Amino acid sequence: MSQSLQAVRGMNDILPDEGDIWEHFEDIVRDWLRSYGYRPIRMPIVEPTSLFSRAIGEVTDIVEKEMYSFVDALNGEHLTLRPEGTASCVRAVIQHKLLAAGPQRLYYQGPMFRHERPQKGRYRQFHQIGVEALGFAGPDVDAEHILMCARLWDDLGLEDVRLELNTLGSADERAKHRAALIAYLEQHADRLDEDGRRRLYTNPLRVLDTKNPDLQEIVEAAPRLLDFVGDESLAHFEGVQAIVKDAGIPFRINHRLVRGLDYYNRTVFEWVTTRLGAQGTVCAGGRYDGLVEQLGGKSAPAAGFAMGIERLLALWQDSGGVAAPATPDVYVVHVGEQAQRLAFRAAESLRAHGFAVVTHCGGGSFKSQMKKADSSGALLAAVIGEDEAAAGEVGLKPLRGPGAQQRINLDGLPDAVAECLFTEDEDDGGV
Ligand code: ATP
Ligand code: MG
Repeated sequence: MSQSLQAVRGMNDILPDEGDIWEHFEDIVRDWLRSYGYRPIRMPIVEPTSLFSRAIGEVTDIVEKEMYSFVDALNGEHLTLRPEGTASCVRAVIQHKLLAAGPQRLYYQGPMFRHERPQKGRYRQFHQIGVEALGFAGPDVDAEHILMCARLWDDLGLEDVRLELNTLGSADERAKHRAALIAYLEQHADRLDEDGRRRLYTNPLRVLDTKNPDLQEIVEAAPRLLDFVGDESLAHFEGVQAIVKDAGIPFRINHRLVRGLDYYNRTVFEWVTTRLGAQGTVCAGGRYDGLVEQLGGKSAPAAGFAMGIERLLALWQDSGGVAAPATPDVYVVHVGEQAQRLAFRAAESLRAHGFAVVTHCGGGSFKSQMKKADSSGALLAAVIGEDEAAAGEVGLKPLRGPGAQQRINLDGLPDAVAECLFTEDEDDGGV
């Protein structure tokens, strides 16, 4: 036998048991996004490579070493599997002139690709929910994003998620801080690691974001960006904090929070947990006022955030979040050719009335089919043998509770199923 094929390292299958959880989660997320007036947008998974180098920045982990880029063998185009969604979303907004109709509240979700070292909570194909608000300049929308996240954690019953906030100021303010930072880091150049030395001149702010424990002392004592931030940026930051405080959401100001992408300015935030080990950031975002213009659009302010679905789901399960597996209402068993034809008609008629129905496929005896009906989790079996088929009737049998099998005419089947399901709920003292 030839060796069986495996998925690409760091790229996971989501099998049905997990799939149920994902879909339950996605249902909650969709309701949550609608409740804030955000609308769906879907972008291609493949984009021109230059989109990401222009948007994210040449000297970032993502663009330097994490992108799945390739040359299209058919036409020589340089393409990349998207490592994040903001750049694509902004590209789409510019391309289709969405801002001409006014500010936009948008969201998307789907797979992202980064060539990182796979480990718990860090994959090469992972999934994000991204939320972007374009055309809004004030601190109100930044705060809205933070409040949104807090509400989702509440809806999911997540525990131990903390908010960290910072401001990156304006481009001018960052330039002044950058000069001071370079001067400081130059004094310590001999103690920097390879990444640090390489970034000293290209992207010194990112040196502050290092995870290398040997550099913590140096970065702790580095010039603080906040000391270079001017009145307008400070007022913006205070505006965000005021709304967040009003909402009763606790936060910590983390001066070293700089984010891994270059496009951010002013507000940046992360939601972190200690429950997931090293990969503790479940959501990250902030303001990116320069990006629309940088990608060729008419200048427009914007802010957004992205959540890592795998990390959120791990935390959700850790906090006791579960999804009931999707089970059918009715499982249809049938023996005989005439019975099979009636089975298909009965199942379609039930589905037309909104019931979830599995029709047995693959034949077999009543006994073996009833076993399948039982393990499907269905509440009812619709049983069709030769007798029933001849009479145009269906035997309806409760699988989870008391009650005898009753014979029902095909026309009366939807009402009879509704009655059984309704009574089941009442027996459970149900909702
Ligand atoms: P990290 O510091 O963990 O590498 P990041 O700053 O690169 O994160 P962002 O680009 O801000 O991450 O992406 C937003 C969120 O997407 C992260 O907070 C995280 O929850 C999730 N995420 C990012 N990279 C991965 C990955 N490789 N695997 C799983 N989730 C990820
Ligand atoms: Mg990263």
